[in-house]
Amino acid sequence: MSKTNVVIIGGGIVGVCTAYYLSKEDNVDVTIVENAEIAGAASGKAGGFLAKDWHASATESLGYLSYDLHKRLAEELDGRTRWHYRALQTSNVVLKATQATGNSKPKANVVHDGEEPFRPRPPPKGESNIDWISKPLEDARGVISHEMVSDEDTTAQVEPYLFTTSILEEAKKNGVKVVKGSVKEYVNKSVTLESGESIPADKLVLAAGPWTSSVFDTLFDTQAHLPIEALPGYSLVLRPTSMPSAHAAFTTILGYDSVENAMSGTPELFSRLDGTVYVAGENEGPELPPNAGQVAELALTQEERWDKLRAAVYELGPSLAGAEVVKKQLCYRPITYKKRPMISSLKSLVGDDVFVASGMGPWGISLGPGTGLVLSELVLGKAHSADVSKLSVENFET
Ligand SMILES: Cc1cc2nc3c(=O)[nH]c(=O)nc-3n(C[C@H](O)[C@H](O)[C@H](O)COP(=O)(O)OP(=O)(O)OC[C@H]3O[C@@H](n4cnc5c(N)ncnc54)[C@H](O)[C@@H]3O)c2cc1C
Repeated sequence: MSKTNVVIIGGGIVGVCTAYYLSKEDNVDVTIVENAEIAGAASGKAGGFLAKDWHASATESLGYLSYDLHKRLAEELDGRTRWHYRALQTSNVVLKATQATGNSKPKANVVHDGEEPFRPRPPPKGESNIDWISKPLEDARGVISHEMVSDEDTTAQVEPYLFTTSILEEAKKNGVKVVKGSVKEYVNKSVTLESGESIPADKLVLAAGPWTSSVFDTLFDTQAHLPIEALPGYSLVLRPTSMPSAHAAFTTILGYDSVENAMSGTPELFSRLDGTVYVAGENEGPELPPNAGQVAELALTQEERWDKLRAAVYELGPSLAGAEVVKKQLCYRPITYKKRPMISSLKSLVGDDVFVASGMGPWGISLGPGTGLVLSELVLGKAHSADVSKLSVENFET
């Protein structure tokens, strides 16, 4: 029986997980084309927070599937050692900026007009026992309340760069190839790169994160356009002087805009197994450059964004205020105007051999394995493990 050649454009978590699940099938030959670095964009610089039941209705079943797949992969492939997988407790923390003179509330961390909230947080379940953010009324600067919203059964984390590169390592054991290059053409079931190299592609998967719509425009001469945009995000990796407890914290800083936007309003923080704390917050910034390899250089011009994050972190108490800064990062989330991913055949736009998976917004790490599995099923014409009916291209205006 002849093999089906699948080419995946993009070596982020979505492309790599799709390659991994396809590589478990007989008679499928998979090549990832990456024009910068594997996990060099958001998939290597994200927080790595995973939630089982925080997802909006369109991605609810995918959220459950993906959470279970993360757990299974960690058990089967020693994820705790290889990519720092662990369950953790999640808290909401509300504080008042110490320099604030007003009572204004910051906008939600990820802001984008659309149908459903990106991060619908569950209601409080009790008091949090986080030990690296000051408790209200102790040595807190402006901390007002701490509430646990999820326990270790429903929230977890990975180190996303280690996760994506480890899953690729497993996929390569099953024969997946990685080719460095940029695609120029898709004609007669073959992808041609800028270098002139051709790769047979009975099926083509577009998984280039926030660059997916520009890849689509390069390859297909059509009026249609995939509505996938880019939302920047800044992060810091800090090393406090003592080992932080296993917690995720979603914070809201009241009075923030009365200090002339001198700090981030809703930073999200995740302690990690290696003793660091990841902090993300600022979501405004320069336009997406054409290649992921150019983001690091662009980031060098954005020092004030990290200063804002650092100012917010200072409000959370001495453990973080005195922490060493290990990394400063900028990356871009792929988003759609509907705040839901597009995981779909592109049959109605350009033919039934072409598929897309992008627009994961703030949830690409959480939804990565589920998206990879479902996309592999779509490509092979199999029944789907999760309901992705609301994620098909026909649900979007293109
Ligand atoms: C600050 C921040 C924090 C986040 N935290 C979390 C979190 O805690 N939990 C969570 O679930 N999600 C989180 N996310 C979201 C998550 O990071 C993204 O949704 C996810 O990484 C998107 O993965 P992707 O594979 O679609 O895209 P990407 O990671 O962007 O990968 C796309 C790849 O395609 C490549 N590419 C682009 N153009 C081409 C081309 N022409 N040819 C070949 N290759 C190409 C790129 O180089 C890149 O490697 C966060 C995002 C940000 C910005």
